[in-house]
Amino acid sequence: AAAALASARAVAQEAQGQPLLGDPALPEPSGQRTRWAIVGLGTFAVGQVMPGFGPARKSRMTAFVSGNAEKARKLGARYGVDRFYGYDNYDSIADDDAIDCVYIVLPVGLHAEYTIRALEAGKHVLCEKPMASTSAECEAMIAAAKANDRRLGVAYRVHFEPNNVHVRDRIAAGDIGAMRFVSGDHGFNANPDWPPHKWRLEKALGGGGSMYDIGIYGLNTSLMMLDGDRPVSVTATYSTPEGDPRFTEVEGGIDYRIRMASGFNVAGSSSYCWSPYLSRQRYFGSEGSIEMNPATTYYDNRIRFEKAGDAPREYVAGNAIDQFAAQLDGFSQAARTGEAHRTPGEMGLRDIRLIEAMYRSADAGGAVVEL
Ligand code: NDP
Repeated sequence: AAAALASARAVAQEAQGQPLLGDPALPEPSGQRTRWAIVGLGTFAVGQVMPGFGPARKSRMTAFVSGNAEKARKLGARYGVDRFYGYDNYDSIADDDAIDCVYIVLPVGLHAEYTIRALEAGKHVLCEKPMASTSAECEAMIAAAKANDRRLGVAYRVHFEPNNVHVRDRIAAGDIGAMRFVSGDHGFNANPDWPPHKWRLEKALGGGGSMYDIGIYGLNTSLMMLDGDRPVSVTATYSTPEGDPRFTEVEGGIDYRIRMASGFNVAGSSSYCWSPYLSRQRYFGSEGSIEMNPATTYYDNRIRFEKAGDAPREYVAGNAIDQFAAQLDGFSQAARTGEAHRTPGEMGLRDIRLIEAMYRSADAGGAVVEL
């Protein structure tokens, strides 16, 4: 014990006179933070978005918009939020100076309407993925952001997830050589009796099927890793089990292949009929390959790096849970400075256009659709 004390004293002596380390400007005091209203207090809002404000440094919650006043007040008591709105008086957020940004966490079929109303109320909007039901809706959302001079982002959290950001940087640095092939597989087994899955199986609220909800992670993440390249054509085939009563309105699964301008393919599959939940991305280069499995989860993403002649290495490059606060603070920063968010409305529109092209191809039996 005496030896340990002596060594601790020695360390303290050495540390004397240290310069100021760390960034005293962060985290910001509550009064300076960007203030957020959360719209739709469902599974994801309660389970991930609200806890994400805990470690945020520039963002705090000030208001809840919900159809369930009792639930909103309970959550308000837990998080120190005391401004409440319903969907009926939602437009009056325009008069609320304590709201800068609105986070839309509603079913997809409601994204466009509630985003546009918030933009018209003078608020910046971060909208959950997928951006909306159709590309026409996405275009209207982008036009409303421009007309009201507000920022519009789509909540593609993977762009803020440290393991995926690390892989993007390694690919950009040439660590696996030239890209030759990318593939992403994402799916789970939809339970029509569970309310959050029930609306996903209805076209009016889900917008589309598995590709809209879960396949979009693969599509968006694959393209995130290929900055500077561009999709030129797409083919797709549905893979919905015959006679499955869950899939009368939307597809249960789809496989696709996108041709990139630089001459390789991005393949993907998406399903509402797989168990257990699967989230896997693979990047094949001329000099090596990277697999992430799982790739786009909330807590547990992992990297496997392989290069000819070296032993494969499996590792974790950061804490996945950090993505939620990083995304909130990133959008707060965009709202303050007027700069584009890392995942702007235009990216959401690009993805919905691609998925619409997949549906066109699959409807025509897998025909090539030029983009
Ligand atoms: P839930 O069904 O759990 O929550 C949706 C909430 O929206 C409801 O709780 C309700 O909140 C409100 N709502 C308003 N009108 C309706 C309606 N007609 N039917 C159903 N709900 C309604 O869904 P999720 O939380 O799973 O998904 C919400 C959004 O978040 C979707 O856009 C989804 O794609 C996205 N999401 C994103 C994830 C990500 O990782 N980025 C993960 C999961 C979902 P209230 O009772 O307060 O009115």
